[in-house]
Amino acid sequence: MNHSSLQIIETHAHIYDETYVEDRDEMLEKAFSSGVSQIWMPNCASETIEGMMALAEKYPNKCFPMMGLHPCYVKEDFEKELAIVEDWLNKYKFIAIGEIGMDLYWDKTFVKQQEEAFLYQCQLAKKHNLWIDIHSRNAFWETVNLIEKNADPNLKGIFHCFTGTLEEAQKAIELDFLLGIGGVVTFKNGGLDKILPHIDLTSIVLETDAPYLAPVPYRGKRNEPSYLSIIAQKVADLMQIPVEKVIEQSTQNALNLCQ
Ligand SMILES: [Zn+2]
Repeated sequence: MNHSSLQIIETHAHIYDETYVEDRDEMLEKAFSSGVSQIWMPNCASETIEGMMALAEKYPNKCFPMMGLHPCYVKEDFEKELAIVEDWLNKYKFIAIGEIGMDLYWDKTFVKQQEEAFLYQCQLAKKHNLWIDIHSRNAFWETVNLIEKNADPNLKGIFHCFTGTLEEAQKAIELDFLLGIGGVVTFKNGGLDKILPHIDLTSIVLETDAPYLAPVPYRGKRNEPSYLSIIAQKVADLMQIPVEKVIEQSTQNALNLCQ
């Protein structure tokens, strides 16, 4: 279908990733001509800043950077990394703090440091009046506890790549967060088919998490923002509403975050 009149906001894509080195501009043009009006770029660590900022400069009003330290990049030197994050926040107007959070899937060595980094960055969000883009893997309730007990109750944002239970979805929404819905929605046994019919359209935003988590039929291959229309269509099917409505409302939800 033709989305040319629709504006889709890609709320989470690592388009600075090295997997796009051969065809980055072509890949982005494909996204823009498929109806993607903005691409929001989560940062990972100091090593990803240069490539991200280059894209922000090359595509102003289209590619918007976030600033933050990803939990999987929290190591011994995390305080040095956080100082770099803070330095950038003082000299550039970012769209959000991200991606930040807790990841207990791969390695729990730095769990304490992950907590500390997350809380510190929540404070930075408050200070700079920004929302947060949350990465939480095998750590939903740990992240929620940190938000509730230690961070600001006015903190808003997105649970990026949400794949939890209905109870978790409802908790995130109660905390005034949006659910970032991506390619997992197209996966058999992805679980989102059981959740989306019970969720209001005002609580979701669309994302790819490119280059990861490509939707079916590209599952396992390189992901890219032009595949957002596949994700939007699947959300529409599961919620039994027209895809135009999904795009219109999710774009509005995303824009509301930035006001
Ligand atoms: Zn990500």
